[in-house]
Amino acid sequence: MTTRYANILKPLHLGFTTIKNRVVMGSMHTGLEDRFYNYPKLAAYFGERAKGGVGLIITGGISPNRQGWLLPAGGTMNTLGDVAPHRLVTHAVHKHGAKILMQILHSGRYGYQPFVVSASPIKSPISPFKPRKMSERQILNTIEDYAKTASLAKMAGYDGVEIMGSEGYLLNQFLSRHVNQREDQWGGAIENRMRFALEVVKAIRAEVGEKFIICFRLSMLDLVHDGNTMQEVITVAKALDQAGVNLLNTGIGWHEARIPTIVTSVPRAAFADYTAEVKKHVEIPVIASNRINMPDTAEEILAAGKADMIQMARPLLADAFWVNKTATNRVNEINTCIACNQACLDHTFKNQRATCLVNPRAAYETELVYEKTKQPKRIAVVGGGVAGMSVATVAASRGHQVTLFEASNEVGGQFNLAKVVPGKEEFHETIRYFKVQIEKTGVDLRLNTKVNREQLEREGFDEVVIATGVVPRALKIEGSDAPQVLSYAEVLRGAPVGQKVAVIGAGGIGFDVSEFLLKPEHQPQPQPLAEWQREWGVDPNPNYVTEGGMCAPEVDPPIREIYLLQRKTTALGAGLGKTSGWVHRAQLKKHAVRMLRGVQYKAITNEGLWIEMAGQDQLLRVDSIVVCAGQESVKDLMPAADENTLANYHIIGGAKLAAELDAKRAIREGAELAAKL
Ligand code: NAP
Ligand code: SF4
Repeated sequence: MTTRYANILKPLHLGFTTIKNRVVMGSMHTGLEDRFYNYPKLAAYFGERAKGGVGLIITGGISPNRQGWLLPAGGTMNTLGDVAPHRLVTHAVHKHGAKILMQILHSGRYGYQPFVVSASPIKSPISPFKPRKMSERQILNTIEDYAKTASLAKMAGYDGVEIMGSEGYLLNQFLSRHVNQREDQWGGAIENRMRFALEVVKAIRAEVGEKFIICFRLSMLDLVHDGNTMQEVITVAKALDQAGVNLLNTGIGWHEARIPTIVTSVPRAAFADYTAEVKKHVEIPVIASNRINMPDTAEEILAAGKADMIQMARPLLADAFWVNKTATNRVNEINTCIACNQACLDHTFKNQRATCLVNPRAAYETELVYEKTKQPKRIAVVGGGVAGMSVATVAASRGHQVTLFEASNEVGGQFNLAKVVPGKEEFHETIRYFKVQIEKTGVDLRLNTKVNREQLEREGFDEVVIATGVVPRALKIEGSDAPQVLSYAEVLRGAPVGQKVAVIGAGGIGFDVSEFLLKPEHQPQPQPLAEWQREWGVDPNPNYVTEGGMCAPEVDPPIREIYLLQRKTTALGAGLGKTSGWVHRAQLKKHAVRMLRGVQYKAITNEGLWIEMAGQDQLLRVDSIVVCAGQESVKDLMPAADENTLANYHIIGGAKLAAELDAKRAIREGAELAAKL
């Protein structure tokens, strides 16, 4: 079969071993790796990705010792007893011809535990624990621990290890002046700061021999003050190459960096040029990473010679069969990672198992199983939002005969609104994915069809799923029916909005709408890379001489004056996702959005919006008021509990419960119901 993706599918020869293609599933903590009894689930998770065609897998981080734990009692490998559960994982992956590396991660001062150590005793802004400065003895012992962990990984059947040296973890803490303020042989000039990383590589190589992959994940761009320059990064890369590393992986930005590196508003492949710069100076293959989620982007990077392999972590959570679909020209069937972080990283930070918003089976492969049905049924699904599309397509893939009724002329529901928000263009992909699934699984889609109970009963369905979603909650104060009062749905669909705006409600949608209103109407979407770099202060020169690749951000003056309001007295945006909320808050702050809390809404007049704050009446002189006050369920088709009907009725998504509705719950509820029907 001819393919447009020849570079992605080309094997990579490392001399003693061959990786079957250029796709690396990057390290990502799921939470399953921390407990031995979860290893059958972890094996199923990785096994499915190996079956899906990925060439090389890198596990979540495993610590070489207790000081290196990310969380108390996190996954560790330093005794023979730790080896056995890992064999399940390596076996599950090798069965399908993929290779797997175990990542060795010492968290240094990023650990959420009291034993933390680092180059210097400087507390990180993202952990409550101040680290102790490592003594020379502790450094030498830790190097031995790394080597021992690598040899145990070899016993467990891994093809190699990845040494985590980026994202601000221990070795990166030594590599950069940001944390390393030592004056001994482990600090000072870059030749000293890189000593720890190099000694780790040499000790591992001495322990495991030549025929074992050592990959090093190096920070190409620290994005923190006193971070390394590109010349320093290249110095380290060359030394790692000399020391016996086989693969050089890319890390971008420390976790404490205040420049986004993976959220959906970061342009695709935003950092590939920094990897390309390093590639010019080393012999070993290099791996590009961050915001690469679709085959065209990956192929372009490889074809341009910017990297030898492409690393994706979240995109392979979203679709385990990404590579096979690419190889068989079925790219439009890929369930694309929309870089929302809602079900993966946000879960990890809350100590919950990571999964995926668009693919609820991720890390639940043994629990959420879609089996072919032995009793095909006639199923009606009412509502073509993500909940409805999820239940319809999974049920149809299991062999049921599904009819999907949608009142409007398009499927997608609330995602059709989200996709027009600047930086949320990836939401188009989810709608495209579901449309292809609807066609492929043979769902009978009836657009422009507002169905009623009589019709549903008349057609004699066995099961009816109500997924009619939500409508925006209206504001009920004096003057709220005035023409200058608009719902968020009207605004996102293009209703004209004035120059001075009050946004009522500061949930996810209040923030989205504010960002939408800050940008000129005809701004290109997605945002061009150069503009994004300028706005966030990322040095566009791949051979940057600025500290950590940062320069002063330049922000265009806002095109509107915006107030974002909430009744609660808590900080605005406190309920947004842990790993993405700060980006939204920073965006609005940069654009001078005035955020007011503890507000009571009193009335709307021709002069503007009257509010009360701290017992004082105030007038906000605005010409538009946009209501983002949450939603209400649309459940009118649901029969009362005591009614007799021909069909069995179910209700899911926003129709069931509007409060705290999000796409994660909607898609999961749809998939879980469909798995049981
Ligand atoms: P939301 O998060 O519930 O926020 C609505 C806000 O409106 C509330 O915070 C509430 O704050 C205010 N409100 C509620 N009733 C009101 C009333 N009667 N009058 C005035 N204000 C009222 O809902 P949303 O912003 O519409 O978002 C809907 C769902 O989509 C959420 O689950 C959200 O997580 C998800 N979403 C997520 C993102 C994301 O980036 N992750 C983006 C968009 C949407 P006060 O009562 O304090 O004023
Ligand atoms: Fe991607 Fe969102 Fe899924 Fe995470 S939850 S893998 S960011 S789509």
